[in-house]
Amino acid sequence: MLKIVYKYFFILISLFFSLNIQAQYLTLDSHIDIPFDYMDNPKNDPGNLTEMQVDFSKMKSGGLDAGFFIVYVEQSSLTSDGYEKAKDLAMLKFNAIHKMVNTYPNKIRLALSPSDIKKAKEDGLMSAAIGIENGYIIGNDINLIKEFYDLGARYITLAHIGHNQISDSSIPKKSLNDSYKKHGGISLFGKQVISKMNELGIMIDISHISDMAAKQVIKLSKTPVIASHSAVKAIANHPRNLSDDLIKQIAQKNGVIQVVAFSSYVQVNLERNRAINDLRKSIVNLAGDNDFVYKKHSQYSEYKIKLAEIDKEFPLPDVNYFVDHIDYIVNLVGINYVGISSDFGGGGGINGWMDASQTNNITSALIERGYSNNDIKKIWSENLLRVWSSVESYPIKNSMQNPSG
Ligand SMILES: [Zn+2]
Repeated sequence: MLKIVYKYFFILISLFFSLNIQAQYLTLDSHIDIPFDYMDNPKNDPGNLTEMQVDFSKMKSGGLDAGFFIVYVEQSSLTSDGYEKAKDLAMLKFNAIHKMVNTYPNKIRLALSPSDIKKAKEDGLMSAAIGIENGYIIGNDINLIKEFYDLGARYITLAHIGHNQISDSSIPKKSLNDSYKKHGGISLFGKQVISKMNELGIMIDISHISDMAAKQVIKLSKTPVIASHSAVKAIANHPRNLSDDLIKQIAQKNGVIQVVAFSSYVQVNLERNRAINDLRKSIVNLAGDNDFVYKKHSQYSEYKIKLAEIDKEFPLPDVNYFVDHIDYIVNLVGINYVGISSDFGGGGGINGWMDASQTNNITSALIERGYSNNDIKKIWSENLLRVWSSVESYPIKNSMQNPSG
């Protein structure tokens, strides 16, 4: 009996200490996906106890202070009809994020600048910044970037899976008949997009785009760039991951790489991949689609059950694998160019960080690896906030150097 009491006492004490340690860091996850019925469906309302990987109670219990909530729209055809539909879908997510902060003002606040995130933490509130995943939603209308900025977007991932009007993707999309490359990097319109983003103070995200495109962006952008959710190619050889050369170029430009907890980018496990591919093929056949659609509603529950079986047979990489990627970047370019992202809601999740309630496990792993307090502060948010500050102040500096009128 006494033994059990001791055991629980010990668990309580260590929980108390780990949460206390966690509280001193401003923790920022740079990539959290949301569904299209976010805030409309009670199941997808973060104010409730949900099955989503991120909701307020999970953020609170894991000590996650802030996140970039993502306006993601899947790549489709490069036609005016496609662009119009994409913009409508994007608006659903912008509206949902605004509804979230308006519904829960005493829990979470919209962050339009790094100072908003710091202020919210001081006030004991969480914060939500907004990132756009897929510049596809800009269509051919350069003025839309300002509209999205006014809605709160502070970074744009130029492309997703599939080439778009702005950039080549690291993964061409079969169902759109993509060839290996479309523009040989960034398109002419893409160059205009980059200079517009610089002018407005929006961070440029090179995650998902091809290596050639990323190199061109780093050269073209007047401000540091980010990889909002990518990992290290030298550890996991996946087209979505970053080569040493790209990591060095991002660092030289004073940017940041936000290591992502997406299992197949953290660890290449060929047997697991084969099993998942086979599963996806069977789901595609079942649904009568050309391509696997993540969370395709009719077959999603079937997919989840089968995926759980695969998870048992070929376990996901754990937090230690994840921290290996952080170590690698630190050894290659130093402590100032690395951060953290989950990709929760978009396929992210590894053993030990399956949802926001386990966020403190990442901090514990960093402490175990010997990172100092200051290092951990940089990794958890200061590096990304430094880049964001530099990007948001560029329009002001630029207008002082080139006064007009
Ligand atoms: Zn992504």
